[in-house]
Amino acid sequence: MTLRWMCALLLAAQFLSAETTPEPALMGFTSQSSPAQVEVEKKFRDGIVANNIRENMRRLSARPHHVGSPYDKDNAEWILARFKEWGFDARIEVFSALFPTPKERLVEMVGPTKYRAKMQEPILAVDPTSNQTAEQLPTYNAYSVDGDVTAPLVYVNYGNREDYEQLDRLGISVKGTIVIARYGGGWRGIKPKVAGEHGAIGCIIYSDPEGDGYYNGDDFPAGGWRPREGVQRGSVMDTDYPGDPLTPGVGTTADAKRLAIKDAKTITKIPVVPISYSDALPLLSALKGPIAPESWRGALAITYHIGPGPAQVHLKVTSNWDLKPLYDVIAVMHGADDSQWVLRGNHHDAWVNGADDPIAGMAPMMEEARMLGELHKQGWTPKRSIIYCAWDGEEPGLLGSVEWVETHLKELQEHAVAYINSDTNERGYLQAGGTQDMQSFLSGVARDIEDPETRLSVFQRSHLRAIADAKDADERSDLRKRGDLKLHALGDGSDFTAFQDFAGVSTLSIEFGGEDDGDQYHSIYDDFYWYTRFVDTDFTYGKVEAQTAGTAVMRLADADLIPADYSPQAEAIENYEEELEKLLKAKQDEFTERNLQLQEGVFTATADPRKTSVPPPVEVVPPYMNFASMKNAIDLLKKNSERYSKILADWRSKGSPAISAEALRTVNADVMKIPRLFLNEKGLPERPWFKNQVYAPGAYTGYGAKPIAAVREYMDEKKWTEADGQVPQVAEIITRVAAGINQAADDLEKAVGRN
Ligand SMILES: [Zn+2]
Repeated sequence: MTLRWMCALLLAAQFLSAETTPEPALMGFTSQSSPAQVEVEKKFRDGIVANNIRENMRRLSARPHHVGSPYDKDNAEWILARFKEWGFDARIEVFSALFPTPKERLVEMVGPTKYRAKMQEPILAVDPTSNQTAEQLPTYNAYSVDGDVTAPLVYVNYGNREDYEQLDRLGISVKGTIVIARYGGGWRGIKPKVAGEHGAIGCIIYSDPEGDGYYNGDDFPAGGWRPREGVQRGSVMDTDYPGDPLTPGVGTTADAKRLAIKDAKTITKIPVVPISYSDALPLLSALKGPIAPESWRGALAITYHIGPGPAQVHLKVTSNWDLKPLYDVIAVMHGADDSQWVLRGNHHDAWVNGADDPIAGMAPMMEEARMLGELHKQGWTPKRSIIYCAWDGEEPGLLGSVEWVETHLKELQEHAVAYINSDTNERGYLQAGGTQDMQSFLSGVARDIEDPETRLSVFQRSHLRAIADAKDADERSDLRKRGDLKLHALGDGSDFTAFQDFAGVSTLSIEFGGEDDGDQYHSIYDDFYWYTRFVDTDFTYGKVEAQTAGTAVMRLADADLIPADYSPQAEAIENYEEELEKLLKAKQDEFTERNLQLQEGVFTATADPRKTSVPPPVEVVPPYMNFASMKNAIDLLKKNSERYSKILADWRSKGSPAISAEALRTVNADVMKIPRLFLNEKGLPERPWFKNQVYAPGAYTGYGAKPIAAVREYMDEKKWTEADGQVPQVAEIITRVAAGINQAADDLEKAVGRN
């Protein structure tokens, strides 16, 4: 036999075996419905065109388009027209919300030498949109309170709570001073908040090149990194509640009751402004006092001193405190069943031109919608309705999505299946987050998408990345055993927040990233010129983003059975609880050891007598807490989740035989209720807007998630009794969720048993 013949036979054998053992049905589909779905999804992915994404970005990022700007409205109208053209039932919903814009900004050193900060990002000849100065929002931090202060300067590293403990050890107080903090180490809004809590009267934030400039790579325009006069704008709205500061908890509709500005809790207590490292350098150079600890030093060619002073700084910030219109574009593709909604969103407003943030997410989302419209014209109609949302006002404080969710809360809770978010997109790996009831589902989607540069599946690439990044052998061995991608819990910082934390809707965040050569976050240089030279230059990752998120949308919308699975979620919640116990033990050990060392005189004996060093305060060792009720609830949750997973897996292993429409309706109704059961109407004890008792952002982390926040945050505050007091009510919520899952398992068992 010739080699060619052998190959032909082998191929034939493969074809035969493929025919005799059919592909297992997609999760949530029956053996009857799955093949057609596989086919239509493939058609969808083949239809995504990278160049359309490029043209969407060119159009949407052509001019500055922050909230209230002419081009923000223009973009919303353009997006609306496209959705209509693609056959969506689309409209713009207008809200109006408080959005301060800069009136006066001044940072000047008044002694011992004089320097006035430029606070202006220069026009670059090669970058054709950097000269749109008339429309650019100046560099500032939105929702800084107005203020005019002069005081000695203190360097506070990132300005986190731990940094102030370190300052205490060095005998330095920030009371009555202006602090200068570098960007990084957590969300920017925490910096003025913590500074104010420690008695500072003003706050300056700068971009140290160590985290954000030449230290990482060549700076713009030679390379992609932030240049010396580049500035990161951004909101510093406090984390009590997101959305319009004047209408917490309710939609800011025409007749909504508004708070007076002075009563809005989310405006900062002290004035704050961001500057470039070029403007920070003279200020930092003029500081004396102790040398900053090694981990506090950045990448400027100076010795980092802490102060206070002798640099004296004058800081003045005032804003125009106006209400501005928000234009949310809401585009519906009606499904055969209009009572179940799959929602997909990305914001369209930016700080300036915003090619990366948010248009790199928005442009592929529109290409997704175009192709869905195309399939619809060819005769495909989703089972469930699909709702595309282009949000306005995300940058200032999730304004557009929060006000929309607050306004439509009731219908959303009745109809929403899940919400899929993106906010940007770059080259690299799939970075997926969300509620873990969607974990098995998203892992299935990721297996079906090809990474454009390695030709591995995006699942495989992310999975191998996770192994490479694992912190120890245990984690690696866990990852190797898993058949899914772990979803990280979402905190705050994008439009999923209101869906997950306020309305109790399952969420997913789908974005690619991790392999870019540059960063211009919230600067005028985050524009089309920069993005197409240093980020996803050929839009192949824009294409894979549209393919991944769009496939997820279609599959969620078309599945016979909503493809939720609860074992991964129960496992995640069990881990969150274990983290609470570990934290308690770590704090008990740490404080016991510290108190012992204080008794032994370790701190005074080892301090350099010629330098100021203050021993840390004696700490009360935390008492034991009683996690029993939560652990019992989690045991029940695991048991019921495993039961559901097993019924689902058995059904799938039997080839996913058909289920009657009536039985499906019952199970789907059960499944839709489950994410709502995570809510407690009272909300978190200190932040009543946040209703979800498992998923929440931290009050002092901002972007980062602090699962089981009701307990966790009191622990962080060393309020052990209060923390202990929250355990039973969280246990009650988890028990309710477990009961909901058991109901779904009962009904699923009946449904699949009937065949
Ligand atoms: Zn964004």
